[in-house]
Amino acid sequence: MWDFRTEPDFQAKLDWMDTFVREECEPLDLLFPHIGQPYNTENAAARAILKPLQDQVREQGLWACHLGPDLGGQGYGQVKLALMNEILGRSMWAPTVFGTAAPDTGNAEILAMFGTAEQKSRYLQPLLDGDIVSCFSMTEPQAGADPKEFVCAARRDGDEWVISGEKWFSSNARYAAFFIVMAVTDPDASPYRRMSMFVVPAETPGIEIIRNVVVMPDREELDEGTHGYIRYNDVRVPADAILGGAGQGFEVAQARLGGGRVHHAMRTVGKCRRAFDMMAERVLSRRTQGELLADKQMVQQFIADSWIELAQFRLLVLQTAWIIDNEPHGTARTDIAMCKVAMAKIFADIISRAVQIHGSLGVTAELPLYEWWTSVPSLALADGPTEVHKATVAKQVLKGYRPAAGLFPSEHIPTRREAARARYADILKEHGLA
Ligand SMILES: Cc1cc2nc3c(=O)[nH]c(=O)nc-3n(C[C@H](O)[C@H](O)[C@H](O)COP(=O)(O)OP(=O)(O)OC[C@H]3O[C@@H](n4cnc5c(N)ncnc54)[C@H](O)[C@@H]3O)c2cc1C
Repeated sequence: MWDFRTEPDFQAKLDWMDTFVREECEPLDLLFPHIGQPYNTENAAARAILKPLQDQVREQGLWACHLGPDLGGQGYGQVKLALMNEILGRSMWAPTVFGTAAPDTGNAEILAMFGTAEQKSRYLQPLLDGDIVSCFSMTEPQAGADPKEFVCAARRDGDEWVISGEKWFSSNARYAAFFIVMAVTDPDASPYRRMSMFVVPAETPGIEIIRNVVVMPDREELDEGTHGYIRYNDVRVPADAILGGAGQGFEVAQARLGGGRVHHAMRTVGKCRRAFDMMAERVLSRRTQGELLADKQMVQQFIADSWIELAQFRLLVLQTAWIIDNEPHGTARTDIAMCKVAMAKIFADIISRAVQIHGSLGVTAELPLYEWWTSVPSLALADGPTEVHKATVAKQVLKGYRPAAGLFPSEHIPTRREAARARYADILKEHGLA
């Protein structure tokens, strides 16, 4: 049964969230606008505002809603989470206020799934409580999209593992209390069993942040980089620092990335909607040649195309969420890849139209469009490039198809007409049509 209604009780929670995000979270975006600030646990002023807001979220029972009840969440499932994340996506700070900020969400999930009791109490609990932030250290300077090319290695030395190598784009490394590091532990094993995942406390000797890489629109001279280029110089961790088993690195990474991608897509629906709202307000406010921008047909095309694309994208995300909730684990793999591709494209389309509609104001730093625009390329790269996800979609979809049985395609009209004639030969003959 398909049903697009939201239960009244849950709608009331969404309404509360909507007001709370606009009134309480968006001011944080204005006061502490840099992308790294929600993760900077040393920003005392921001934390002083943040903590009471997080308490209010907890009081509403809306803290860390991506988690099951066993970990302090509500276990709402992905469809409800999608509706919530649409609201959170409006604001950069909102996910932190609600305990659902990436990459900590994904790191919490794999600690919950694969962690030992000791790892859970030491790392997971403070992460879930919002007291610390974490870093996922997988991509390397020479390879990203294909983890089979990774070379950062960990070798066993008595009761310890010794990690050596470099990692690239380890987001929030500078603020993190611990790192989850993927390293080659058995170079001779099959490609998907060569690597393991390690939980490494930030204070471990040998972790060197070569630099905090700056992405557009940030500035190096303002020390705004948040993506750690890291060298692990013979970093020693105890044998039990491994997350999951030895050789399980790929499996752990996969478990983490699916959820992260779809949650990003959910939040992107919210950002697209906010950009659309800006566009709609502008075309109804700005005049040219004696009429509103809204009266111009090409502008109407912008509005219609954006609204249709957004509706399609939103339905894709909700359908994917529904599949995750209702079908066996792994069924949504293709759908998640579709969401990942669509989110980068539709975000780019809507933001570029919103910028254009705002004219010169659209290219200034005086509107949120500036920051969103500069984040367009990242959306098509982080958690895997668009091309890789398109390839996944194509390969999975094609598994449901077979080659044509004969020389011509199965839809070849003369061939099919011949078969239809043969099927009804007697009747056609009776009516003089044979
Ligand atoms: C904002 C941001 C945050 C990130 N945070 C983290 C993080 O916290 N931790 C972490 O470990 N990593 C992180 N990453 C890294 C991210 O996972 C990688 O950028 C991504 O996997 C791509 O790897 P790469 O950058 O090395 O590009 P490459 O692998 O070098 O790919 C470059 C380009 O080659 C093409 N390409 C690659 N593979 C294929 C293919 N199979 N078919 C066709 N074309 C292909 C695509 O055009 C692709 O964009 C982050 C990236 C960004 C942008």
